[in-house]
Amino acid sequence: MNFQDVANVSGGKDSDCVAALCADRQQRTGRPARFLMADTGHEHEWTYEHVHRLEASLGISVEWVKRDFTEDLARRRARLPRQWREAGVSENLIDDALELLHPTGIPYLDMVMAKGMFAAGASRKFCTEYLKVMPSDDQVVNPLLASGVSVTQWLGIRADESKKRADTEKHPRFGRSGNHNLPARLLLYRPILDWTVTDVIAYHKRRGIPINPLYAFGFNRVGCFPCINERKGAIAIIATRFPAAIDKLREWESLCARVAVARGTQPDKFDGTATFFPAGTVPRVIGNAPIDAVADWAMTSRGGLQVNIFAGAPDGNDALTSAAAEDFERAQDEGHYACTGGMGWCEA
Ligand code: SF4
Repeated sequence: MNFQDVANVSGGKDSDCVAALCADRQQRTGRPARFLMADTGHEHEWTYEHVHRLEASLGISVEWVKRDFTEDLARRRARLPRQWREAGVSENLIDDALELLHPTGIPYLDMVMAKGMFAAGASRKFCTEYLKVMPSDDQVVNPLLASGVSVTQWLGIRADESKKRADTEKHPRFGRSGNHNLPARLLLYRPILDWTVTDVIAYHKRRGIPINPLYAFGFNRVGCFPCINERKGAIAIIATRFPAAIDKLREWESLCARVAVARGTQPDKFDGTATFFPAGTVPRVIGNAPIDAVADWAMTSRGGLQVNIFAGAPDGNDALTSAAAEDFERAQDEGHYACTGGMGWCEA
């Protein structure tokens, strides 16, 4: 039987280490390995550049997978007129929504438009599944399994990240998964399960691999920019240092509002529930808060009662921030992370 390793790369510090460990094993044993990055279309541009630096540093080639929402949008376009007419929505609004329900090629935005809602809230956290798990499984892992190649999938999960991840029953170092109807088996491998952040930083330095420059600005984690689970301190950093990311979400919220499921089910009560962050994010705001209200709240302390003069300052692990800052400076000297203005850094 054939075997293959598949390492998931995200641009974050943990997946950097896993990619390096997997690449080392490939060199040592000759066992074939593939490195996958699921492109959500909602990462900071520096994350894309970081992944290219990581490729060069490790001597690997990263395959980019992304989900195509063309069919999902076509299905929504077919369903929407009947649903909205039954709910009493005007023909003007229906025409407006239908004009918007076409693929843009930005997976995150296309997902939101096809769903008619953001992936915000515990019961609606479908973004990871749609944007990361499905493209990797559909385009790489399942075809390998179907062709009889058993896959070991390397994952950058650390137990000290959260209580959920520390549950070794659910997240053991080795686990079996996959579709039992397929001829080969899928093994999940979490090689850095017991590593701390200190171990991760030390490994980057020892191995000489780059660190995503976003950590230099005080972020604790890197994923979508921002992630629906972003902490208040990180939102403040984005609002002050990367304001174009807030501008982008303001535009996405207004687009999503025009196709929102809520408009077709409760047209009388429709109150702009198409917000990136879930209801309850901003204390004392009942219901959903649009991105500008969330950004304003992030600049406060005491539950929004007082302006926080330290808002926007680094909010993560000091050792991580300074290790990333050192690497950022070195990378900029080499011509990386040039200021493009695309995410607002030049405007700061
Ligand atoms: S990083 Fe956050 S927003 Fe992006 S797919 Fe994962 S959970 Fe969703």
